[in-house]
Amino acid sequence: MRLLVVEDEARLATALQRGLQAEGFVVDVAGSGPEGLDLARHGGYDAMILDVMLPGLSGYRVVRQLRAEKHWLPVLMLSAKDGEYDQADGLDCGADDYLTKPFSYVVLLARLRALLRRGAPRRPVVLVAGDLSLDPARRRVTRDGAEVDLTAREYALLEYLLRRAGEVVSKTELLDHVWDASLRTAPNAVEVYVGYLRRKIGRDRLETIRGAGYRLVT
Ligand code: CA
Repeated sequence: MRLLVVEDEARLATALQRGLQAEGFVVDVAGSGPEGLDLARHGGYDAMILDVMLPGLSGYRVVRQLRAEKHWLPVLMLSAKDGEYDQADGLDCGADDYLTKPFSYVVLLARLRALLRRGAPRRPVVLVAGDLSLDPARRRVTRDGAEVDLTAREYALLEYLLRRAGEVVSKTELLDHVWDASLRTAPNAVEVYVGYLRRKIGRDRLETIRGAGYRLVT
């Protein structure tokens, strides 16, 4: 899952980025309203964490503009302000949820996961394909009822493939959604991790479609 964090307080932005990366998310950071808006329009994100008080353009205006342009990515707004008036403001302008600073990281993560689930209502809470199941809320993967132990990257790869189960997913899509574009990823990283994953979930579960990508068998 690919996230955009728009926050001008560098320390908070860095802490959020590191924390979320450790959970297996791919995270980009923007430090101003206009930069955030531009990335949100073109970045292919699964959700956005958006501060209200930003240089250039407020978070309210960023989300209003995105909705006006029919971009529907889920938005979690952050603000130092407190009070019902501001929450209503945030939700009125098209944000999906609202968190007042200072917030607990655990709460942020829970709300973010809820948002990602709600983001696409047809998605089941627990992702299932054959004897394989992945519970995003508990970060738990089982195969035929037995727990499968995955690294953060293997988990992120499997989650993305499960959300697209039955479809052919290209290497480029996997690199975009599972790896951080700002890091130099070895070109064969996808193959290497597909190999790791196959060893854990079963070789026949993940087909290679020559020249096109991979498909998780349903
Ligand atoms: Ca701010």
